[in-house]
Amino acid sequence: MEYTNYAIDQILKLCKTPSPSGYTHRATAYLQKELADLGFEAQLSRKGSVLATLCEGANPLVLAAHVDTLGAMVRAVKSNGRLRFTKIGTYWENNIENENVIIHTRSGKEYTGTVYINGPAAHVYKDAGSSKRDDEHMEIVLDEIVKSKEDTLKLGIAAGDFVFLDPRTILTPSGFLKTRHLDDKASAGILLALAKAVHDGKLKPTRKLSILFTTYEEVGHGAASGFPADTAEMISVDMGAVGDDLSTDEYRVSICAKDSGGPYDWEVTDTLIRLAQEHDLQYAVDIYPYYGSDVEGALRAGHDIKHGLIGPGVFASHGYERTHTQAIENTLKLLEAYLQIS
Ligand SMILES: [Zn+2]
Repeated sequence: MEYTNYAIDQILKLCKTPSPSGYTHRATAYLQKELADLGFEAQLSRKGSVLATLCEGANPLVLAAHVDTLGAMVRAVKSNGRLRFTKIGTYWENNIENENVIIHTRSGKEYTGTVYINGPAAHVYKDAGSSKRDDEHMEIVLDEIVKSKEDTLKLGIAAGDFVFLDPRTILTPSGFLKTRHLDDKASAGILLALAKAVHDGKLKPTRKLSILFTTYEEVGHGAASGFPADTAEMISVDMGAVGDDLSTDEYRVSICAKDSGGPYDWEVTDTLIRLAQEHDLQYAVDIYPYYGSDVEGALRAGHDIKHGLIGPGVFASHGYERTHTQAIENTLKLLEAYLQIS
């Protein structure tokens, strides 16, 4: 439980640190500092991922989680002074309707605003409910007195500025974590907890272990590079999909047997399932119908590695997400068990 609490504390901090794909340096600087405090030298790759090797040994394994998230970018300043945006990552626009945002300009200034549909007033627009939710029919309204394109440009806001979504991070007394970006900061917190357990001498992996925090997963090429050349195996630690006929829920560790990229390695998946059973964990084996992972990026880049995917179940993924501390604990325990087999 000690390491579960540590993981949750890290998840809360990471979720509050903005890091849409392409603007991840605040999150990676935080990771490097936390790892340095645990005595691990963490390297930053050219494209911004963070790698730390926790122990040496044979049969090198990389555990990968991504710290980049969904977000948006200013596409254009409209004639009314409001902003048209383009999405970073894949999501339905209705998932950010009425969300508060921060616009981060190239000169380093930050302005707040809110995402609305065009014409949101129910007392004026009778079709507001059925209006299309897409970037043509939605806009960011700034919390600044701007009435024209020129007014907004004068603030220094322009196309290409990053837009951070308010994560609305909450941990309820009943153990529910409700926040944007649990995908995949829940897993990043879990990897930090493993690093702490190794540092404390409570976890002694039987093989070389590195942890990799990638920064372009949401746009498809997170773990295509940035890990040691001797890597024999990579496991993506990423959220478990919840819904329809899938058996993952917010309390379990989800073991993915197949996603959009095809089946995961038979032996790795089989071992994970066996260990979940032996350790009496709450787990599920599932097929994710619309899902790609970091390890898929590594495979498509041509790396010859064994591969797996596990993670805590996350409800309402790519929206206002939710999981429970039990899912974090089950994922942590399964990874600890996996790292101690010979
Ligand atoms: Zn993810």
